[in-house]
Amino acid sequence: MVGGGFAGATCARALKAQSPQLAVTLVEPNARFVACPLSNAVVAGLRGLDAQSFTYGGVERAGVQVARQAAAAVDPARRRVRLADGSELAYDRLVIAPGVDFDFAALPGYDAAAAERLPHAWKAGEQTLLLRRQLEAMDDGGLVVMAIPANPFRCPPGPYERASLIAHYLKTHKPRSKLLLLDAKDNFSKQRLFEAAWRELYPGMIEWVSLSFGGRVTSVDPTTRILRTEFGDHRAAVANVIPPQRAGAIARAAGVADATGWCPVDPVNFESRLQPGVHVIGDAAIGGAMPKSAFTANAQAKVCASAIAALLAGAAPAPQKLINTCYSLVAPDYGISIAGVYEPRDGLLTEVAGAGGVSPLDAPREVRALEASYAEGWFATITAEVFG
Ligand SMILES: Cc1cc2nc3c(=O)[nH]c(=O)nc-3n(C[C@H](O)[C@H](O)[C@H](O)COP(=O)(O)OP(=O)(O)OC[C@H]3O[C@@H](n4cnc5c(N)ncnc54)[C@H](O)[C@@H]3O)c2cc1C
Repeated sequence: MVGGGFAGATCARALKAQSPQLAVTLVEPNARFVACPLSNAVVAGLRGLDAQSFTYGGVERAGVQVARQAAAAVDPARRRVRLADGSELAYDRLVIAPGVDFDFAALPGYDAAAAERLPHAWKAGEQTLLLRRQLEAMDDGGLVVMAIPANPFRCPPGPYERASLIAHYLKTHKPRSKLLLLDAKDNFSKQRLFEAAWRELYPGMIEWVSLSFGGRVTSVDPTTRILRTEFGDHRAAVANVIPPQRAGAIARAAGVADATGWCPVDPVNFESRLQPGVHVIGDAAIGGAMPKSAFTANAQAKVCASAIAALLAGAAPAPQKLINTCYSLVAPDYGISIAGVYEPRDGLLTEVAGAGGVSPLDAPREVRALEASYAEGWFATITAEVFG
């Protein structure tokens, strides 16, 4: 397993649990995993980053060997992975789960150095804290600008949850400030729920500019904090630039990513359509209708693990249904959610009609408060399962 995030760590544990006789190695360079879900609450000062950080002790105790290295290259013909220190691991089956990389070439002016002034905070850790510090340092009355990419990208409702929680912080600490969302899309996940909540909780604070109205950011200037669109320039006091994304670099190096930058897979066993014997799960994979989420990564990982166990035993993996649920916090005591069920159909993961849905538009505040507590409960449960 390459990558110890929600996808890779889940898959390693699930495979070891199902087939204890197998030798399972997780290749991951970081000693700690910093989880993105609920990291928007860190940006808003509602939660510490410690609550997001996990070690791989639980993964090791489950019998998985952890190689604390980055995978540098894959040779699918020889079935070998080369690690950063030059050593090699042989495999019968390889799972690649590196999450996303930022496609800096797609946004002129933005790169790793620019991210130090215009944080993305789309990989949790130092970037999350940097955005938090910038918001704290901003004067009351400042303009916060977010650049939001076109689909597909990690966590479709994430930018709007972030906007909500930043608005919560501004409302309670810097009430003269405003938030401008420059979006490369004309619609977004849970849009009606978010917009209704913004009208109720943050009237006049959040302005969303869609693609059709000039929302797509075409370049940025990190020195002046100006974000450019075809319709004009916007100077930010704090700019959160979420750049376009693609599969992590190792997926491209292994030859499992196609021209889109993402990895086509067979939705029954998550085997790459480009390299036999290599599977891709989580954000890096083309999940069809399934959104790129930690819930999805965890669900795909379990299906992939049981498929690999079957394949190694000489059996054919059975098609399975997968579930995703994404909670978003609009305020600390105000949660909304979207759920979907997916099945392999015509070579893609397709949504099962009538099986999912979103929170009701007219739910009372008690229900919103309950959903906020479910968000925390979901996070506690999944992180205990994957890293506990
Ligand atoms: C602000 C925000 C909020 C979010 N909220 C939610 C939410 O509420 N619910 C939800 O379900 N999802 C949420 N997500 C999405 C979720 O974080 C991702 O979809 C999920 O982390 C994907 O899991 P993954 O395993 O594919 O990638 P990751 O979790 O990113 O893990 C990838 C791992 O691979 C490792 N890696 C990369 N390259 C290599 C290499 N060459 N060798 C070895 N290891 C490598 C990395 O170090 C990393 O540990 C949110 C995301 C963001 C940004």
